[in-house]
Amino acid sequence: MPSLPEVHARIHEAVEQIRDDMVALSLDLHAHPELSLEEHYASERLKAWLEREGFAVESPVAGLPTAFVGRRGEGRPTIAFLLEYDALPEIGHACGHNLIATGGLAAAISLARALPEPPGSIWVIGTPGEEGAGGKVIELEAGVFEGVDAALMFHPGDRTIPWRHATATAHLRIQFHGRAAHAAGSPQEGRNALAAMIQFFVSVDGLRQHIPESARLHGIITHGGAAPNIVPDFTEAEFLVRALTREKVLELVERVQACAQGAALATGTTVEIAHASPIYAERKNNHTMASRVFQYLAELGEETEEPVLRGGTGSSDIGNVSLVLPAIHPYLKIAPRGTPGHSHAFREAARSPEAQQAMLRMAEAMAKTAADLLLDPSFLQAVQEEFRTAGPDFPQ
Ligand SMILES: [Zn+2]
Ligand SMILES: [Zn+2]
Repeated sequence: MPSLPEVHARIHEAVEQIRDDMVALSLDLHAHPELSLEEHYASERLKAWLEREGFAVESPVAGLPTAFVGRRGEGRPTIAFLLEYDALPEIGHACGHNLIATGGLAAAISLARALPEPPGSIWVIGTPGEEGAGGKVIELEAGVFEGVDAALMFHPGDRTIPWRHATATAHLRIQFHGRAAHAAGSPQEGRNALAAMIQFFVSVDGLRQHIPESARLHGIITHGGAAPNIVPDFTEAEFLVRALTREKVLELVERVQACAQGAALATGTTVEIAHASPIYAERKNNHTMASRVFQYLAELGEETEEPVLRGGTGSSDIGNVSLVLPAIHPYLKIAPRGTPGHSHAFREAARSPEAQQAMLRMAEAMAKTAADLLLDPSFLQAVQEEFRTAGPDFPQ
């Protein structure tokens, strides 16, 4: 088996070899944004790369057509790179998942080229539907992560930090059913599902000032009626309930449900409330693993910063994975400080030359860290020991 410094040098060389191809792939994915669970173009391109590099590709997995697993090597430890590749409605790759997918792929390819016969397994798990569908949770429940010893991914952001907290989230679909009638001729015959929906949102506004500071309640009306001269007999909203932990989310969901039930009662309508996707869990970052990635990032000239454990934050289905096995989800600066995610500016940043350069550095740092996990049992032990003893990250 080659020494670690030798493997690290080979990883660096491999990243240089694939640099142009990976930048082209990242820009190609960016130019073809696809919604959650509809990422056929991205999935095909990523799988084709894995097959060319000698990975055995299984697809679909977990009943998700755009999910896949690529495997190289045999036995434990098993180190997995997680790829996200879904985009957002109307604003495309404004979360920069083209960089997550290509950076993870580049890490796997360079590691596999540096270690053609790895002492363990190198997996690439394609995890579709991060923006609301919970692809990783579905894969977890289907056993896709069984036997994985550590999972590595990163997320684009406006600063390069090794970890941060994330809220747990429930994604609700709320439907009011009323009775249609002519809105002018016979309104007394109608029961107004839009009035119920408006009442529901007003009630949530009343609730909002009496919830923990770290919680968030927000949603949109996806169906508000058919025509102004028909009393709406059906309305629908999608609603997110976020709090520090899954338990706290479930408590808040009950209070949000009461707002909907009250609105239905007041308007003579009925309400149906369903979970539109699995609950996203709080996040337990593996600091040992993330710190190693950041050591290598700094050596490559990337400007790194201290972790941020305060302020508003999103949620991701990596949380559910991180409670089951050691996982990391560091952030990589691709846009000027203060650029919000899910914005037009962030989408443009995700195709900038600077973003591609940062992505390749992250790929190299993750590949070197994965090599350490495969070749240095004491490092893997330290990662596992932290996983056993540490809890999730919470804001300070
Ligand atoms: Zn996003
Ligand atoms: Zn994202």
